[in-house]
Amino acid sequence: MTTHAGTTTTDTHCPYCSLQCGMGLRTAAPESGGSGEWPASAAPDVFVEVVERPGFPVNRGALCGKGQSAAEVLRRGVRLTAPLVRDGDGVLREAEWDDASDRVAAGLAAVGRAHGRDAVGVFGGGGLTNEKAYLLGKFARVVLRTANIDYNGRFCMSSAAAAGKAAFGIDRGLPFPLEDIARTGCVILVGANPADTMPPALRYFTDMRAAGGRLVVVDPRRTRTAAEADLHLQPVPGTDLALALGLLHLLIAEGHVDEEFVAARTVGFDAARAAAMAHWPERVERITGVPVQAMRDAVAMFASAPAAMVLTARGPEQQSKGVDTVGAWIDLCLAAGKAGRPLSGYGCLTGQGNGQGGREHGQKADQLPGYRMITDPAARAHVAGVWGVDPDSLPGPGRSAYELLDSCGEEIRALFVMGSNPVVSAPNAAHVTARLAALDFLVVTDVVLSETAALADVVLPGAQWAEESGTTTNLEGRVILRRAALPVPDGVRTDLVTLNALARRLGVERGFATDAEEVFDELRRASAGGAADYAGITYDRIRAEDGVFWPCPEVGHPGTPRLFLDRFGTPDGRARFAAPTHRASAEEPDTEYPLYLTTGRVLSQYQSGAQTRRVPALNRAAPGPFVELHPDLAERMGVGEGDPVSVTSRRGRAVAPARLSREIRPDTVFMPFHWAGEGRANTVTNAALDPVSGMPEFKVCAVRLDPVGKVGEAGSTGSAAGERGGAALSGSAGASSDGLGGAVLARASGAPGGGR
Ligand code: SF4
Repeated sequence: MTTHAGTTTTDTHCPYCSLQCGMGLRTAAPESGGSGEWPASAAPDVFVEVVERPGFPVNRGALCGKGQSAAEVLRRGVRLTAPLVRDGDGVLREAEWDDASDRVAAGLAAVGRAHGRDAVGVFGGGGLTNEKAYLLGKFARVVLRTANIDYNGRFCMSSAAAAGKAAFGIDRGLPFPLEDIARTGCVILVGANPADTMPPALRYFTDMRAAGGRLVVVDPRRTRTAAEADLHLQPVPGTDLALALGLLHLLIAEGHVDEEFVAARTVGFDAARAAAMAHWPERVERITGVPVQAMRDAVAMFASAPAAMVLTARGPEQQSKGVDTVGAWIDLCLAAGKAGRPLSGYGCLTGQGNGQGGREHGQKADQLPGYRMITDPAARAHVAGVWGVDPDSLPGPGRSAYELLDSCGEEIRALFVMGSNPVVSAPNAAHVTARLAALDFLVVTDVVLSETAALADVVLPGAQWAEESGTTTNLEGRVILRRAALPVPDGVRTDLVTLNALARRLGVERGFATDAEEVFDELRRASAGGAADYAGITYDRIRAEDGVFWPCPEVGHPGTPRLFLDRFGTPDGRARFAAPTHRASAEEPDTEYPLYLTTGRVLSQYQSGAQTRRVPALNRAAPGPFVELHPDLAERMGVGEGDPVSVTSRRGRAVAPARLSREIRPDTVFMPFHWAGEGRANTVTNAALDPVSGMPEFKVCAVRLDPVGKVGEAGSTGSAAGERGGAALSGSAGASSDGLGGAVLARASGAPGGGR
């Protein structure tokens, strides 16, 4: 923290994506340097602005527009500043904290008594700090004693996590720092578009190419990242697995297998070779549409580089065969000897701000803190010891995220949501919205009145990134510290305070600290000895070292920026080949639904848009949904630029303006998923799940495209507000710029499951 001329600058990090860019927050009281040109936070009379923090190594001061404008969401009138409770007339009204907390505790307890503990579900978020994720998991298992907790990170990188754990014994997004990308010889980037999703990271790829390295991008769209590549492979959506097998086939056929590495450091190559040899290049060209020569070129670049990497993101991962697809790309690395060596390896560009830490510390259905499996008796005994409970009292594994949402209103009768907006971000979203509406009791903690919060019986406003301290773990496995720069505004509580108050009301008086550092110290003990061991990481160390890489088992340990250089994390130290074979997506185009739909993000919005849709500058840059399609397809359909079109699948229909682009395959349309309402892409997407990871198939489904007379024509599946017919909000919850059109739901209270 530095103070100058009446202003104070606090070193912290962006609240959004997994890059967790370092930034400064400059604050001032009006009389001492603040001015009307600064945004005023919700804290009384404090102005705040984002400034560069060049000393943080990951982004060296660079921020994208989302990070630059992040302080806008701190403003009163944009964010929530009081609890909301739905009255008997179905309207959300402002309430006192004690009343709201009493109602939450009573609602959760009543459902537990009536239907059993597992009828209460908990749904967390990949943006929660490690401390919140840890305490939320403990709250579910110790206070509610429910098995059913999961989080939206399941929708983010769970396939990569499962594949990485199977291959290497440890799942960490990147097993090396980002800086290694700049010094490697070749990167195959699969289904990732960092130019739009994390622009400050692009310089690592640019530096690599400037030093003679080669970039191969695999993507059905010629994204801005693909346009920068030395080679762009543009496969049919859902065929990345076949492409990886085709490349492995060529690697083997052309004599590039690192036999010494394979023999010394891996297990299972024979099965992988057999799988690859069944995918000869011409067959793979027929499946993927990628020309054989382009595959040969990719293999030549990859194999000839002295060091090389494969990096995946949501493209190959968000498929019903996501684990196998990532496994096939890992197999390519292992066969080439491009893993477990300096400047080489497989990595996942994780998505959400704390997607990595969020799954390490207990909000995932099958895991306890420290990346311990909840079915492991030793893991249960260790964590129960830290928590001071009987290991036998801990529940077992629960439903994965979509299964949890899908069972709402049936097996799950009450849901506690923290920092997630599944009404927009879940697949088959109209169905999910209906399931949420069928709950007996829904409580949401969030910083804004998201579309999911608008459905709730009780909404609890949480403090934001700039108002509370806490750690996150970025995509490199670097544990960093967000430092509070502002006081918690009146009417708002930190989520740690909220969990403490609820635990007390539900009969657990101890064990829910409200100070983030105290929670982190408990997390360190709970993670000690686990795969994600944070025991040696302290707030002081993070401050002094700009982050510490896990595993870090002791305070004197330097942390582990680079994994697997000596051995992999498996019991015998050897990596495992996955040896998958290609299979079709869960839903392929047919005569009724003849096109592929793929979904993704745009530069100026983030995830469900709950925060970024409230920022005027971002809305000017990315004002609404669109359907990207090739001009040839548009001509066949009689559609021009900007014309409203509908995209219909077996699950529903979304309507948005057409955006013509030669950068997409003519058999595929693309929609960003940041918006609610009739342009909600996830109304259309398919919830077919990967059998191992539970990842839904966001990236591939079959759709029909139709011109529409005008946006809003009958038949579109609308937002939650539209489905409910809109209603009223009493109070000042700041719903004006949220894409809900100012309408916030009235939700008739009454009979459980009565179609609310
Ligand atoms: S790249 Fe990610 S972390 Fe960095 S400023 Fe943008 S949204 Fe924030």
